[in-house]
Amino acid sequence: MTTETREFQAETRQVLRLVIHSLYSHKEIFLRELISNASDACEKLRFEALARPELLGGDTLRIELIPDAAGGTLTIKDNGIGMSRDEVIENLGTIARSGTKKFLEALSGNEAKDTQLIGQFGVGFYSAFIVAERVGVLTKRTDSEGVRWDSDGEGAYEIQPHHKADRGTEVILHLRAEDKEFLQPERLRHLVQKYSDHLGLPIVLIHDGKEETLNQARAFWTRPKSELKDEDYQAFYKHFTHDWEEARAWAHHKVEGNLEYTSLLYLPKRAPLDLFEREPEHGVQLYVKRVFIMDKAAELMPPWLRFMRGLVDSADLPLNVSRELLQNNRTVEKIRAALVKRSLDLLDDLAANKPEEYAEFWKTFGTVLKEGVIDDEGHKERIARLLRFQSTEGDGMTSLADYVARMKPEQKAIYFLTADTAAAARNSPHLEGFRAKGYEVLLLTDRVDEWLTSHLHEFDGKKLESVASAAADVESVIDTPEKAAAESAYKDMLPRLQTVLAGKIASAKLSGRLTESPACLVAGEHGISLRMSRILKQAGQKDPFGMLPILELNPQHPLVQRLKDAADDGAFSDLTHLLHDQAVLAEGGQLEDPASFVKQVNRLLLEGLGAKPKIILG
Ligand code: ADP
Ligand code: MG
Repeated sequence: MTTETREFQAETRQVLRLVIHSLYSHKEIFLRELISNASDACEKLRFEALARPELLGGDTLRIELIPDAAGGTLTIKDNGIGMSRDEVIENLGTIARSGTKKFLEALSGNEAKDTQLIGQFGVGFYSAFIVAERVGVLTKRTDSEGVRWDSDGEGAYEIQPHHKADRGTEVILHLRAEDKEFLQPERLRHLVQKYSDHLGLPIVLIHDGKEETLNQARAFWTRPKSELKDEDYQAFYKHFTHDWEEARAWAHHKVEGNLEYTSLLYLPKRAPLDLFEREPEHGVQLYVKRVFIMDKAAELMPPWLRFMRGLVDSADLPLNVSRELLQNNRTVEKIRAALVKRSLDLLDDLAANKPEEYAEFWKTFGTVLKEGVIDDEGHKERIARLLRFQSTEGDGMTSLADYVARMKPEQKAIYFLTADTAAAARNSPHLEGFRAKGYEVLLLTDRVDEWLTSHLHEFDGKKLESVASAAADVESVIDTPEKAAAESAYKDMLPRLQTVLAGKIASAKLSGRLTESPACLVAGEHGISLRMSRILKQAGQKDPFGMLPILELNPQHPLVQRLKDAADDGAFSDLTHLLHDQAVLAEGGQLEDPASFVKQVNRLLLEGLGAKPKIILG
């Protein structure tokens, strides 16, 4: 027999040290971690046995806890999948998982949080060293030789062949002198109930030659709702997601009849790290008749509900169901439709009965839910009721329904403004006329809002209109009795101005939407918004319509009035460019030639300060 001594990977050592030191006051979590690994190993075996039933034979999968007071050891034993020699080296000697780096970064110094991180980033096995001065692992995979692994957690481990009769793994903890409490049956019983009661396989204490099953040994979701308390749901949630925070809400359903399945859905409080990655993994766990089949079954949950976590246990799908089979499967489609409905029910309920909680949810996941308006025509209306926006009315968020309830009797549409920030939105010249009229305007600052508003045209029979589009113009919104007079006064100026700004604007016109600012840019009635065309440009795409904006001028503004009277072509052109550039800036855009703009502004400033005028207006 050859014994080989190997060094831990450098990062492994670092994690080990951190685990041992940061969690010293939460020692007991080692048991949760080791039991969870044993349970995973049994699930893996159950899954492999679907294709090779002989692997399972007549075995009952189970986990044994064997305290040995004389030897000072606690053994956690399972008859799960086991590990080959290579797997032992890979799983226990290195930390190949990319999660490790994130784990190290995520450590907060707050022990309660860090405790949960350990499970989340998959460094659970090392928690054994919190209570053990030496850990031995005996393991055997079917069709492989047995292996023995030993380490004191100080930097190296030994690995050697080991004769083991049955498949599975034993983790033997040589407890530190001060941690012998974990040999007491009472303590073990209590910890299993606290952390592992929901596992679907028996956890058996072997003690004084007696066997005692410590848990319910029933998959959590199969238990009747009436029997389950909030704490039970939260404990299962944490086990299931590795989240260190509690869930915000959940929905547990058993469906019988034509279709038979159980679903357990959770709404988390915290966003996962990949929520906004380009192709975030999502979906719920799929079980078939209690057997774990796959994680993140994307077919069961649409991407716009990717913040929901949970599982489905179906009695109608075949055990050998593959990802391919899930596509275009009638049963899957029906379950998915039901899960969408339950998720929306859950959100409706939260919004109606716990508005503060709903507001928190919205802050974390609202942007994702908005995608539903774009992706799912069938649920657009339901989702629209769940949307929340900032508005010119107060600092809080409002729903569309509340907005509609506040609309002025003569108000024709629901008005909104999209901008990059709330501050830019609140100060936008586009709002001026609406503010003067006392009309509330929704302020939309998420990028996705550009798409949202191009898919949501109506709510409750009211049109949604951008205050920065030609559609929501003065004529239709604000009456201006002086309009006719202004129009004849500016008759000559508008074409002159259009010539100066050729290629930059589609047209110029007078507007009643402005009360303080001289000018603003608006999107053509059927064009995409200016912000949207900027977003497309940043993404390297072209505005699909290639539409130029319309420059709107405030006929009451002294600068515009002076422009009208500018006889000198050079001065007219300078002031025209200045007004246009200002409008671009106010709208959140970028100037093509910022240096010229600055020069002109300075020239005007100097004139204002009494320096020798170079531009003569009028
Ligand atoms: P995680 O469970 O999150 O993957 P752990 O540190 O808890 O991380 O375990 C590391 C790996 O070691 C597991 O992924 C698994 O492959 C292996 N392992 C641990 N315990 C067992 C066991 N009892 N049986 C089989 N494999 C195990
Ligand atoms: Mg683990």
